[in-house]
Amino acid sequence: MDRRTFVRSLAGVSVLAAAPRAFAQRPAGPIATVALAPLGAFPPSFLAEIEAGLRAELGVAVLLLPPSPLPRAAWYPPRRRYRAERLIDFLRPMVRAPATRVLGVTQADISTTAHGVHDWGVLGLGDLGGLGCVISTFRCRMNSPSEAQTHFRMVTTCIHEIGHTLGLEHCPDTACLMTDARGLVRTVDHTTGHLCARCRSRLGLR
Ligand SMILES: [Zn+2]
Ligand SMILES: [Zn+2]
Repeated sequence: MDRRTFVRSLAGVSVLAAAPRAFAQRPAGPIATVALAPLGAFPPSFLAEIEAGLRAELGVAVLLLPPSPLPRAAWYPPRRRYRAERLIDFLRPMVRAPATRVLGVTQADISTTAHGVHDWGVLGLGDLGGLGCVISTFRCRMNSPSEAQTHFRMVTTCIHEIGHTLGLEHCPDTACLMTDARGLVRTVDHTTGHLCARCRSRLGLR
């Protein structure tokens, strides 16, 4: 928080006593416009669910981009999967007005260096306070009890990664979708699929 924002939020506190509704008001317009970028074949019905989930939870605008082939530069031959951070490098230039963030979505398995392992399979990865993120449905399907649960995991992971790009770090509330999955998809299953009140207020959402 810079000094000016701090002063403004102090001013907001003094307004709170007199007019709580005015203080709780969200800033006008969506907090972001997300370019939704399919990497390789991706079912249109999944894209529609992701778009609806992002709009409902975050109030963001969503722009659907045409599909791009998965970039060869991100291919990791030893494990025959794609490196998530290289996919994000490929995605960032897709952020052009009016888009302010990009979310890549793929059915291919993706990985990054995490938990002391060089190539660790992940559900998704996002720039903290940055432009880009990527999710994969590959691990959403693993040991999933139903198609509905697979889709819950997919949409929840999309909101989680966009949350990182909007500056949210992992949340200590294990029911909040910003909880750290620690590489286990069942961690996602145990969330409400929504942000906790603290994370919502950090984004300026009611
Ligand atoms: Zn995370
Ligand atoms: Zn939270």
